[in-house]
Amino acid sequence: MDAPSIQQPEVGTTFRAAMRRLASTVTIVTSADGARHHGMTMTAVSSLSMDPPSMIVCVNQSTFLHDIMLSARRFCVNVLRHDHAAVSTAFSGASSPEERFQIGAWLQTEDGIDYLSDAQANIFCKKVAAVPFGTHTVFIGTAVDVALNDDAKPLLYRNAAYC
Ligand SMILES: Cc1cc2nc3c(=O)[nH]c(=O)nc-3n(C[C@H](O)[C@H](O)[C@H](O)COP(=O)(O)OP(=O)(O)OC[C@H]3O[C@@H](n4cnc5c(N)ncnc54)[C@H](O)[C@@H]3O)c2cc1C
Repeated sequence: MDAPSIQQPEVGTTFRAAMRRLASTVTIVTSADGARHHGMTMTAVSSLSMDPPSMIVCVNQSTFLHDIMLSARRFCVNVLRHDHAAVSTAFSGASSPEERFQIGAWLQTEDGIDYLSDAQANIFCKKVAAVPFGTHTVFIGTAVDVALNDDAKPLLYRNAAYC
């Protein structure tokens, strides 16, 4: 098999093109710090370990959600279903912070964390670390509660489009 062609020095451009080929399940990460609440569409989300059950979410430092997550104690990863494209669009900048929670079946926990009640899964996390790197912060959370929906067909994002 031929070796893959290595394209230099425009690694930033080729890296972006490579990431567009990485199909990802779309999530909306929500958080609240007592005074403010927000949610944002995210794909830079991954499991970290099973013991303890934990996740990482990578949040751009220029966002409102980042401000809230720095002071919040909890966040929720809402894993979207195939028919949630409109909710995802609202939470990636199309709607204002308050308008966006009118789109989709949102509920709130007792401690004020929004969760999408018909998501494939809601993973409620306790924030345990925040590690800045470049333009982003990697937030680490341990799962404290999980809700699962029987319909687990995912909303996928690839090549800058839902698929
Ligand atoms: C498929 C997909 C995947 C993505 N994955 C990621 C990802 O993994 N990580 C990531 O970081 N981004 C990701 N994004 C980008 C992200 O979803 C948003 O598009 C972008 O970061 C803007 O978020 P936002 O709309 O919350 O805007 P923000 O810039 O956070 O602001 C939202 C609104 O809040 C207002 N606001 C700001 N500060 C305050 C305040 N203090 N009080 C009240 N209102 C305020 C602003 O005026 C603005 O109207 C992804 C986007 C898509 C489409």
